[in-house]
Amino acid sequence: MSRASVAIFVPHIGCPHKCSFCDQRAITGSKNIPRAKDVQEACDRAIAFGADPKETEIAFFGGSFTAIERGYMTELLEAAKPYVFEKGFRGIRLSTRPDAVDEERLELLKSNGATSVELGAQSMSDKVLSLNERGHTAEDVERAAKLVKSYGFTLGLQMMVGLYGSTPELDVYTAERLIALKPQEARIYPTVILKNTRLGELYLAGEYKPYSFESAIPLCADILSMFESAGISVIKLGLHSSKEVEKDMLGGLYHPAFRELCESELYRRKMEELIGDDKRVCFTVPAAGLSKAIGQKKSNIEYFRAKGVEIVVKVGENQREYIIKQTTEVD
Ligand code: SF4
Repeated sequence: MSRASVAIFVPHIGCPHKCSFCDQRAITGSKNIPRAKDVQEACDRAIAFGADPKETEIAFFGGSFTAIERGYMTELLEAAKPYVFEKGFRGIRLSTRPDAVDEERLELLKSNGATSVELGAQSMSDKVLSLNERGHTAEDVERAAKLVKSYGFTLGLQMMVGLYGSTPELDVYTAERLIALKPQEARIYPTVILKNTRLGELYLAGEYKPYSFESAIPLCADILSMFESAGISVIKLGLHSSKEVEKDMLGGLYHPAFRELCESELYRRKMEELIGDDKRVCFTVPAAGLSKAIGQKKSNIEYFRAKGVEIVVKVGENQREYIIKQTTEVD
């Protein structure tokens, strides 16, 4: 049975910050504040729908979990705890700010069944962090990441691409520094400009210019490849598609299939490498890679056709290989 997640969205509540890009209610798609009974109902619903507890994780997303008011945080944790310790759920995942992590809070999380902690690093440039009013430094990210690992949690690090004041070089630098912290997981969020945010104001005033898709896709493909080559699982690339984000968005790097666009780019690069001087080439890929290798609206096929190369992409028998060049002849 595949892994499942009971996602509980904890909105902006209690967060004393107002990061330039954040309208947490729009991002989480929830204006309601979940209580203990909501956690219990969500977990019970997952069981009723046949989720295997051993493969199911309870995930608190949306806010800075360890920065919310203590009584409320423990209410949520205590509601989730029996599902881990008594009903055998895989664990509890949460996301938080690097400066809201210390020994005492990590002890509390551990004793309540938390297993994965994701830190919103966003950038490792202090200049970018400050311009975006994050209220923490790159050093805070390093300190928190080491502490989270020392407690045996699965560490996830989140970064943003194209923040106000950033450059592609600084984004790559951020990825390098995050990789050096050896997280098990990463999330990459290209910046989306939402209404009612400082970034939105800067954008409307012409002071913030987001990256174009043409430059962001190859950049995010590079960053994806950097994490994956280091053995770090990229569990998200691109903001999840949501009607609320689409409604509240002013511009920036939102695309419902952002990751697929980046993966298509990586397939195209690999094909380019393998093609050599051939003019007719057949590639095989695993079933899951077929649409990425072909590209949206057959963009990769058309890309090579424009260069005078005919390619065919098929699902191969070897489902483990990323891509194999089968023959120089298209059949
Ligand atoms: S710390 Fe997190 S929840 Fe608070 S404003 Fe920044 S991004 Fe939003």
